[in-house]
Amino acid sequence: MPGRDELFFTKKNAYDTISEEEKALITTYCEGYKSFLDCAKTEREAVNKAVTMAEEAGFIPYVRGAMLSAGMKIYKNVHGKALMLAVIGKAPLSGGVNIAGAHVDSPRLDLKQIPLYEDGELAFFKTHYYGGIKKYQWVTLPLALHGIAIKCDGTCVDVTIGEDESDPIFLITDLLPHLDKDQAKKTLGEAFTGENLNIIIGSRPTGGEKDTDRVKLTVLQILNEKYGIVEEDFLSAEFEAVPVARARDVGFDRTMIGAYGQDDRSCAYAELRALLDIETPEKTALCILADKEEVGSDGVSGMQSAVFENFMEDLCDSEGVKLRHCFEKSFCLSADVCNAFDPNFPDVSEKRNSAKFNYGMGILKFTGARGKSGSSDASAEVVGKLRKIFSDNGVAWQMAELGKVDQGGGGTIAKYMANRNIDTIDAGVPVLSMHAPYELTAKLDCYMTYKGIKAVYDGK
Ligand code: MN
Ligand code: MN
Repeated sequence: MPGRDELFFTKKNAYDTISEEEKALITTYCEGYKSFLDCAKTEREAVNKAVTMAEEAGFIPYVRGAMLSAGMKIYKNVHGKALMLAVIGKAPLSGGVNIAGAHVDSPRLDLKQIPLYEDGELAFFKTHYYGGIKKYQWVTLPLALHGIAIKCDGTCVDVTIGEDESDPIFLITDLLPHLDKDQAKKTLGEAFTGENLNIIIGSRPTGGEKDTDRVKLTVLQILNEKYGIVEEDFLSAEFEAVPVARARDVGFDRTMIGAYGQDDRSCAYAELRALLDIETPEKTALCILADKEEVGSDGVSGMQSAVFENFMEDLCDSEGVKLRHCFEKSFCLSADVCNAFDPNFPDVSEKRNSAKFNYGMGILKFTGARGKSGSSDASAEVVGKLRKIFSDNGVAWQMAELGKVDQGGGGTIAKYMANRNIDTIDAGVPVLSMHAPYELTAKLDCYMTYKGIKAVYDGK
């Protein structure tokens, strides 16, 4: 009669099972990951950095009509905000491709199109938040400004201020506790409003005492001198305020990473690193770094865009394969973060089904809200396939869910891939404080996500 050892499923902390050698690999991998985070705080920077890394590894821009051959490394830059990279496999595209899709946009504060104003002899930028933020987390937080402005003559001006130690930084103020009697009575959602997230950017007046907007003038003069822009150039600009803080080791044992934008650059980096590390795979391996996931995956650079089909169809055309035949044989890992169990907030999670730090890559059969609404819900066959790949390749992984059944919910790019008739499942790094300006992950889980994605790329 089999006993409890054979019959029970027991979750394991992966530190109890991995080798010393693997622990060293985790540390090395995470050093690379942290430096990626520090130079990829926006979707544009993530794409630029990924292109640089890919070109160093021999990837070339894909040219429509180019003949494909096994081992060929190509990429397609989507307007500088999203990226698709492929290593062409030995098998024809009629047998499908192995895809990992992550996103490189993160919650942040975008500047409005007419952002600059003066009030109380201080100058400010008006913002419009992007993605799901808890607004109170963004006040009294050192902010850097990243972005571009397209001038009327078409030239592009790159701006990054606040990252260098000698740079100034920017701030949103908050009310002092001595005077917060009214504020303290409000709910979290009401106490901080989007329209109040105004960034302070200057205080020195220029000109005579009777002039107006003297501080605004000072700021514009500095911007003009440094970047050659005028106020009107903000109309065609994309500036993002992001946290200044850099990626750091967390904990006495240095087992965790604190950083901005780990949703979803922990998975984006894992995919990219895995694609750069594989030999010529059996099936073509595709790495997608998508934009706009945090606002619904719409737009030309989002995962619902036809740009993905167009790229894949171009590849298929060169082999005389129908796109739909390639899709129906393909497999996609929707590589996105999940929430880890937080002992500080145990009530929102169901312990048995929640991901935990150091238990490995988290797999979500489904996401969505309430009755799995809005989820593509991967089939048992797909979960089984992934389970076998991970078990064959020594990948520590765990089942995860977004939280208690009626507690809330969310989605990823998974359904947009699955709707294309591609077998798709969500899997990624468990995160604490997801969407906060400084998110927390466990190094072991980041590494196992890389290892898991690499196993999928290497698979049949
Ligand atoms: Mn995400
Ligand atoms: Mn997110």
